[in-house]
Order: sequence, then structure tokens, then C-alpha cells
Amino acid sequence: MTDGGKGTQDDFLHLDGYHYERLHRIRAEGRGEKYQYFAAVTAYQLARWYDHNRFCGHCGSRMEMGSREREMICPNCGNPVYPKIMPAVIVAVTNGDRILMTKYRNRGIGYYALVAGFVEIGETFEDTVRREVMEETGLTVKNIRYYKSQPWGIADDLLAGFYCDLDGDDAIRMDEEELSEAAWFERGQIEGQPDHLSLTNEMMLTFRDGREPSGGEGRGF
Ligand SMILES: [Zn+2]
Repeated sequence: MTDGGKGTQDDFLHLDGYHYERLHRIRAEGRGEKYQYFAAVTAYQLARWYDHNRFCGHCGSRMEMGSREREMICPNCGNPVYPKIMPAVIVAVTNGDRILMTKYRNRGIGYYALVAGFVEIGETFEDTVRREVMEETGLTVKNIRYYKSQPWGIADDLLAGFYCDLDGDDAIRMDEEELSEAAWFERGQIEGQPDHLSLTNEMMLTFRDGREPSGGEGRGF
């Protein structure tokens, strides 16, 4: 359950031995293993998806669960609907021993993060990396190289993390609507986030420790 949900506990299934807990509390209190947190988030993502796909978007009939795979299917027109997964990128822009870190302006997140954004229709991941870095900071990048991915079900995301190198001028022109801060930091200046759940945090600490995938001319995209 999230704090933003309008439902009450009476709207939900109850099973002996189980109870509902708010996701932000599970995260804040750091209970359980990392995989348990991600299982809970995935359960929340699925529950929300079922709730939001009760009727066919094409003909308005009541949807039914598919019998062969995880899908909702319209018994009238055959329209299948699959779980909503939105691809997004996290980008670590590096320039030698410096990394670009940012703070969001209006999301209530007080710590540093990396450039991030959703893939738009028709884009490759590499296009998204270049566009988001340009939009948020005015910088041009090269040698884009994939690191790893992470589901982030609270926002229906599948995050793909990339490292890339600055290409040319390092002067930042920040998007002031999106960000409150964007700056270069040396490896030794990097402080991690309060917990170790996010791929963003892992990528920042990996760079701090000099373990990022190597770049150089002629590699990456
Ligand atoms: Zn239909």
C-alpha cells in the first residue's frame, strides 16, 4: 500500500497471518532482505495493474484474466492487456574522475541522484540517454555503455543504468524547472543515499570506488 492510495484496508483481501504495510515504512525501517522489498513493490504494482484494467479500453467490456499467461483479455473483442512496464534510463555522466550529480526540485528527495528519465515512444535507450542529459544539463555525451537494470514497480518502471563520458564543454546549463542542483563531484566527494535499494545509489558508489565499466574511444555507442 502507498500513502497516496484512496482505498481502505476493507477493500483488500485479508489472509490469516498476513497484514498490510505501507511501502514507505518498509523502506524507511529497512526491514527484511532487499529481495523482500522488491517482492512487495512488485505485488503492489500488479495489484494496481489489475485494478486499473477491469474494463476493455477498446470496447468497454469487463476484462477477464487470461488462462495461459499473465494478461487481462477482453471476452468480446479479444483485446489483450499486459502488465504496464515503463522503460526509463539512469545516466552516470563522467568526466575523468568527476561525475555529474543532480537534485530534483519538487519531489521531496533531499539527496543527490543521477540524470534520469522515461524512454519516449520511438526512441532507443541511447537516444533517451543523450536527450535526458541534454534537457536536464545542456551537456553532450559519448561512449554510452550499459551497466545493469532494475525494476522499480512503485512507478511501473524498468530502469536501465548507463555510464557515459562527457563530450566537449563541461559547463552545465541546468533545467531549473526539473532540478534544484546539478554539479560535478570528485569520486571522493560522493555520499551514498540513505539506503542501498536504488540502482542510482549503486551506480554512484561504483564510480566512487572506481569500479564502473571502462570507457574510452571506440567503445560504447
Ligand atoms: Zn474489448
